[in-house]
Amino acid sequence: MCGIVGYSGNKNAINVLLDGLKALEYRGYDSAGIAYRTCNRIEIIKASGKIVNLEKKLKKNTNSNMGIGHTRWATHGKPNETNSHPHRIGKFTIVHNGIIENYESLKKLLIQNGYKFKTETDSEVIAGLLDKLYSEKNDILKVIVELKKLLIGSYALGIICDDIPDKIYAVRKDSPLIIGIGDNENFIASDVPAILKYTNKYMILDDSEIAEINDKVNIYNDKLDIVFKEAITFEGNLEVAEKNGYEHFMLKEIHEQPEVIKNTVSPFLKNGLESLNDNMPDFGKYNKIDIIGCGSAYHAGLIGKSLIEKYADIPVNVYVASEYRYKKIFTDEQTLVILISQSGETADTLACLRKVHEMGINTLAIVNVVGSSLAREADKTIYTKAGPEISVATTKAYLAQITILSLIALAIGYNKKLISEKKALEIIDSYEKLPSIIEKLTCYDYKNIAKALYKKNNCFYIGRGIDYALSMEGSLKLKEISYITSVAYPAGELKHGTISLIEDGTNVIAIVTDKNIADKTISNIKEVKSRGAVITLIVADKIDDDFDFADYKVVTPSVNDFISPMVNAIPLQLIGYMTAKLKGCDIDKPKNLAKSVTVE
Ligand code: GLU
Repeated sequence: MCGIVGYSGNKNAINVLLDGLKALEYRGYDSAGIAYRTCNRIEIIKASGKIVNLEKKLKKNTNSNMGIGHTRWATHGKPNETNSHPHRIGKFTIVHNGIIENYESLKKLLIQNGYKFKTETDSEVIAGLLDKLYSEKNDILKVIVELKKLLIGSYALGIICDDIPDKIYAVRKDSPLIIGIGDNENFIASDVPAILKYTNKYMILDDSEIAEINDKVNIYNDKLDIVFKEAITFEGNLEVAEKNGYEHFMLKEIHEQPEVIKNTVSPFLKNGLESLNDNMPDFGKYNKIDIIGCGSAYHAGLIGKSLIEKYADIPVNVYVASEYRYKKIFTDEQTLVILISQSGETADTLACLRKVHEMGINTLAIVNVVGSSLAREADKTIYTKAGPEISVATTKAYLAQITILSLIALAIGYNKKLISEKKALEIIDSYEKLPSIIEKLTCYDYKNIAKALYKKNNCFYIGRGIDYALSMEGSLKLKEISYITSVAYPAGELKHGTISLIEDGTNVIAIVTDKNIADKTISNIKEVKSRGAVITLIVADKIDDDFDFADYKVVTPSVNDFISPMVNAIPLQLIGYMTAKLKGCDIDKPKNLAKSVTVE
């Protein structure tokens, strides 16, 4: 998420920080700010919105040779000027990327010690904590070691202490941070583009290390021994750097999914079933749910329907927002309307929210962008915490949406005593294993499947039940980025018309993960195979068959129903991606499509 930059050297720090922040704009952000030392004091300037707003407030010829800057993508607290970084308490000024999960208890402790807070962020506690620890220990490196022990969550930090005029300190855990190495000047940054105007040499800071930067760089381990690290030379152009070496943002975002899952589930699972309930709205009074979305968010809703109906025993209807907003709506006060949108600005979804609010119906938004219209206007909001998504075709935001929906099914089912405590705890445990399963599936080679597909004009995706919902998303991925006409069908419905389109060489991608109906789907696959279809099978390894009808096969691990959709979505994303790549399509910006559809 978002960007950090820091500079200590002989140049005008304000200009260097601004250059760095602009180079990190691609990461997505909602506000920006810098802190720099001038005339022996720290000046902080912040602005909400784009970096130009910050730039307008700065006096660029101010004399300063060191500072830290930040573009914020809000996770805790509104995206306004007050909440934007840097934050300052006592002698410490900091910028933070990531999420401090235990900030509430740390804040309480600091308030008891007389500290006052100005922002709604989780990050501000870091400045308070540093100040408190420093007043006790007066040794900055020891203080940072201590700080790391107290923080739970993910962070990359740039730290300035009033007592140490030219130095910046940096640490990280699970959020990216590099140290840029120049001539008598050094940098910290979230990513290489931020420093490339000044140097192409950098080191990657490890989770266990502390960096101390002025005209020299010292790296310490957590025992405070000096660590010697080789600098890496970045070879390549700026665009490659922004993608962290991935060829496309879509591929980068697919690879970010293990981390996204951790961020999305962590508030719900940190204290077992208690935190699951604490972080969910009270679903007790609802006996019907309508889910509204567009595109992939609609498909996410279909996954939600399948899980909520099966495990929470509540009827769920899923609607495309542009239809729902004009249809007759049957709801009462026992109906909950769930609205799903990555941007939180999708015009049709927002219109549905306003329409049902006028009817006095309760709403829950599942949204990625903090402080977006949907998040502000819904009665309750759950954030997906997928981080900024740049590729127009969604991957990580969709995965986070279905993760939240599966957690909702679990929470309702458990509270209604349809799922036992033992079972619920087992399911919770499985979410912890999900990131590593996803990582493995991401590394599988999908090229052969894509080779069989990329020259074709059409393709069919089939499945039953939840596999049909997954098929719809797989089919959308393929058509939006590779422009191959692709249709998803319930496997049992083919012979009621569509099977007439199957001929020699027609590609059919079949998904079979539900053991209860696997035999039925397999019969349907054999029906198209015998009419000449080329079959790609995505199958859970619990399904027993020799699959001799499959031309290509991806076997996914057997997992419980709650995490199965997240596991089986991965091959579908990568088949779409690889096919579009072989076709040479503009993957991140498919023709005619926009990332956030803010018009009707
Ligand atoms: N969690 C912090 C906030 O909401 C930092 C977000 C970021 O990484 O920009 O302010």
